[in-house]
Amino acid sequence: MLPQPQLRRDPLSGRWAIIAPERAARPHSAGHRPTPRRDGDHEFPCPFCPGQEEQTPPAVLVYPASVPPTHQAGLPGTTPTLPWRVRVVPNRYPAVRPEASWPYCLVDGPWVAAPAAGRSEVVIETPLHLADPGQLPVADLADVFRAYRDRLLALAAEGWAYAAVFKNVGAEAGASLVHTHSQIITLPLIPPLALQQSEIARHHFQRTGQCLICTLVESEIRSAERLISDSRRFAVLTAYAPRFPYELWLVPRSHLSRFEDLDDQALLELAGLWKRVLAAVDAVCDQPAYNWILHTAPWGLAATEWFHWRLELLPRLAQPAGLEWGFGCFICSVVPEHAAAQLRDALPPSG
Ligand SMILES: [Zn+2]
Ligand SMILES: [Zn+2]
Repeated sequence: MLPQPQLRRDPLSGRWAIIAPERAARPHSAGHRPTPRRDGDHEFPCPFCPGQEEQTPPAVLVYPASVPPTHQAGLPGTTPTLPWRVRVVPNRYPAVRPEASWPYCLVDGPWVAAPAAGRSEVVIETPLHLADPGQLPVADLADVFRAYRDRLLALAAEGWAYAAVFKNVGAEAGASLVHTHSQIITLPLIPPLALQQSEIARHHFQRTGQCLICTLVESEIRSAERLISDSRRFAVLTAYAPRFPYELWLVPRSHLSRFEDLDDQALLELAGLWKRVLAAVDAVCDQPAYNWILHTAPWGLAATEWFHWRLELLPRLAQPAGLEWGFGCFICSVVPEHAAAQLRDALPPSG
């Protein structure tokens, strides 16, 4: 137990967090209040389910079913026919639009604006009407990551500056449709937090000749204090200075700037490890709402050898309030080292 609350600086962003475990003892403490994510489903017919394909714009990527539907149809005792494994479709309600012309800025005195140019895509991760990505078999979860990779490679060729890849699970984490899905949004600029983290990594590299995350991962694996699990290529750690209890990262153990450079074998390994971590988070945090966020090297930078990609999981177990929104200083009621120990104990066996 920490002797007193601790201020911690996040080495990637410079953001400060306050680790204050005694706050967990408060009645209805945020750290121990589960946020149920499966609270009914009022979205029928679901636009992401098979048979409803016309409710979405035409797909930009489809992984067909591995068993052709005609081979299954009509046989007694078979599961219903599934026409596809993953569909990626343009968002029907996009916040950004590919046809907006860019890059340019409208400057009017102090006011600066630019068109919201970009693509907004939805990765429909399974034909099954599941709310929980943790229920996907490892091969299907690997397909989700494969869809991220394949779309990132295609979108990078269009010249966007950045791709934000993320997933909201549960209404409290911002999911508006229950059927498990992720989002990919490309932008004509690098968003501020991504730019800040990239700049910190670049300065570290210029000063030391080392990648910041390579150095961190080596030290984290050595100390094992915040290490939840690892595999041949990846390690999963609780964040040193988290915004939310049980906030964690998956990082490649060897330097790699771009997620989209992973091959199928690596994606399968990633999915296997991630599925176990999701199960541990569900067991320890009582199936919380969460976001997962992929940080891959910004396309808009000329060189990114200092950038090390990572996948972040933010369980929504606390309610950001005045100090967090107003000042960027987060109070976390669970000590990251204890969170790692709890998650380690709750991991299902591998393989
Ligand atoms: Zn559905
Ligand atoms: Zn690195």
